[in-house]
This record gives sequence, C-alpha cells and structure tokens, in this order.
Amino acid sequence: MVIKIDKQPIPITEIEQSAFCQTDEELASKTLEQEFNSGVRWQKLPVSYMRTSPEELEQKISAAKKKLGNKIVILGHHYQRDEVIQFADVRGDSFKLSQHAAELKDPEYIIFCGVHFMAETAYILSTQRQKVILPNLTAGCSMADMAHIDDVMDCWDDLTEILGEGSVIPVTYMNSTAAIKSLCGENGGVVCTSSNASATFDWSFERGEKILFLPDQHLGRNTAVTKGVNLNEMIIWNPFKPLGGNSIEAIKNSKMILWQGHCSVHTRFTVDQINAAKKSHANVSVVVHPECTLDVVESSDYVGSTEYIRQIINEGEPGTTWAVGTEISLVNRIATENPDKNVFCLDSVVCPCSTMYRIHPAYLAWVLDGLLEGVVVNQITVDENTRKYSRIALDRMLSIK
Ligand code: SF4
Repeated sequence: MVIKIDKQPIPITEIEQSAFCQTDEELASKTLEQEFNSGVRWQKLPVSYMRTSPEELEQKISAAKKKLGNKIVILGHHYQRDEVIQFADVRGDSFKLSQHAAELKDPEYIIFCGVHFMAETAYILSTQRQKVILPNLTAGCSMADMAHIDDVMDCWDDLTEILGEGSVIPVTYMNSTAAIKSLCGENGGVVCTSSNASATFDWSFERGEKILFLPDQHLGRNTAVTKGVNLNEMIIWNPFKPLGGNSIEAIKNSKMILWQGHCSVHTRFTVDQINAAKKSHANVSVVVHPECTLDVVESSDYVGSTEYIRQIINEGEPGTTWAVGTEISLVNRIATENPDKNVFCLDSVVCPCSTMYRIHPAYLAWVLDGLLEGVVVNQITVDENTRKYSRIALDRMLSIK
C-alpha cells in the first residue's frame, strides 16, 4: 500500500524545542559532545572541537579573535548563550543587528551568532566584498521553517486571483527566509521586525486595503489590534488547506491575512503564568514579547521587542519586580545586569530557544580557527535575484521611521 503524505512534516527545529528545557540545572554550556547526547541533530565538527571544554574554548576564541583583529566583526543576538554573546562586538535584536550590518563596510568577515535568516539578511545588506558566516549551519528558526516559499507563492497566486493586483501588501517578519523577503520586495511589500511592526503596518495600509502577514500570526494579530483592526476582519492562512482553509467571501471581507506560524518559545507563555506571578509578587510588572498570544499580551503591563524589554527594565526604579515573557538566556542576562531589581521569567521551566542555542562556543572557535588558516567555512549567500528583491523589501523597512 502506498501512503500518500500531503502535509509537510513538523520542522525538526520545532520537534527539538524541548531538548534543553529543564527545571533543576543551571543553563551552562557543556562540551559539544555532551550536548549532542540530548538527541539533537546539529552540524558535526571535528572530534577535537566536540570534546574541548567550555573553558578551553573561551581561551581559544579570545586568542583567535585577537589575532583576526578588525578583519572580523561578531554580531550577537540577545538570545545567544552567555558563553557566546560575551564575544559579540555588537549585541542586539534582529532590527538593530540588521541596521548594523547595513552600516558595516570595513570588516571582511561578518560572523553572525544568531540564526540562519539573520545571517541571510546580513549578507543581503552587506557589500559584495564581505563574507557572512553562520557558525552552525543547522541554526535555523522553527517559525521561519513554518513558511516555505512554495506554499507562500501558492497563497500569493490565490490572493491575486481572488482580489486582483495591488490590494494586498505582503509584509514579512524578519524571521523568514530570503526567498519570502524577495517575494515581498517584488510585490510592493516590506519586511518588519518586532521593533517597527507598528510603523510598517501604517506604511502598508497607506498602500493597500489588506495585509498578508508572514509567518508569525501572533505578531501580526497583536499589531493589527493596536491599529484598530477587528478580530473578525482577520483570517488565518493554513498552508495545508485549499485557500488556506478560507472561503472566497471570507478572504474578500478580511483586512489581515495571517500566516499560520508561531514561535515555539514565545507561545509557551500563558495568562495563568501571569496570574501566578501577580499572586506571588505584589506590584510586579509584566513585560512580554509581541510573539506571545493576544491573551498574554492583553494581560501584560508592557509589550515590546527584546530591545524594548531590556530598556524598560534597565530604566526601572531600583527595587522593582519584573516578570518577563521572552527567551530565557536574555531574561537571565537582564537579571544579572540589574542586581537592584527582581527579574524573573514567567515560565518556571528553563527552556531556551533551541535554534539560537545551537551556536555552541565550539562552532565559534571552529569558524575563527578556519579564518586564521585562510579557510572560510559556513558562508551564507543567496542568489542575485533573491538578493536584489529582498534588499528592496529591507531598504523599505529601514527607511520607515
Ligand atoms: S525565539 Fe522563536 S522566532 Fe526567535 S529564533 Fe527562536 S524560534 Fe525563531
């Protein structure tokens, strides 16, 4: 009997999400070989890197970084582990890092300690002579993996056939492949991040009646609600169903078409966790990321990007208490940087973003050692056509104030 599989499998990045979730241990790096024992499928490295202790790796990275000097720049996303982020020349969320990548002209090598779509974006925004390196090629993003370009193109063709050209503006969250950014650039659309989603929606509604928002339904919904769009004007596009599971009438009546994607880290936060934090801590302030679900966002005191979350807590009064709904590596770092405040994660289970966590220091040591020997490993590129149109969508984003 032939079994026909007509659905795409759940991304491996989503399946792996709980590999490092724990309740009883500190989140400190082990050797790469020990971490592989958690059952993860990461890029393999020569055995010497697999067995090197985190302490030795730290020394190796420091020495290599010093020797390479200003030939390299290391960009680090806030969700990186402490053992990696300590080497970042610039830290930030995806918006800040993409702005930085667009301004960098000197370093020959941009080493991106983040996930695949971020390295692609850095390549698109960098100059022709620069090379972008992602230390571990399997560092993807489960949300980005939920929107495949073939499915998005089918969706776009359906929408164009039903609604005609020009009425829908495609807007993609930064957390998407270059191919999807390119589709947006080629069709009058734009990229956004959690820092500038609101301004991007204003820009888009000035140009079209509807937005197709990819791939995070929650950021799309949360932002649309702040723009006064009613929930009954929003539809979900399920790529596994004809017309995304919608009728032609529902598509015509919608204002927001939300791709059915989500972040496996931020959808762990719940209203029950918020209620528990409020019960156990008088005067707690709750701040969450807009990739959380709408009920969580509406139950919180503040909502914003990782840069915003850092800033609001850093600027908080001494003695204040903060319950935070974002990735645990960042929450722990904010807590360390604010010893005069009580900062804790809403979720009592320590559960890092499994894909950001794939940048183990052994990978960073390996790519730097390669550069010292004149070998470029794990270079990230996209084809010229994709680069051209995704650059248009990114430039539009960077120009929106
Ligand atoms: S936190 Fe969520 S959106 Fe960000 S990289 Fe991890 S899985 Fe992707």
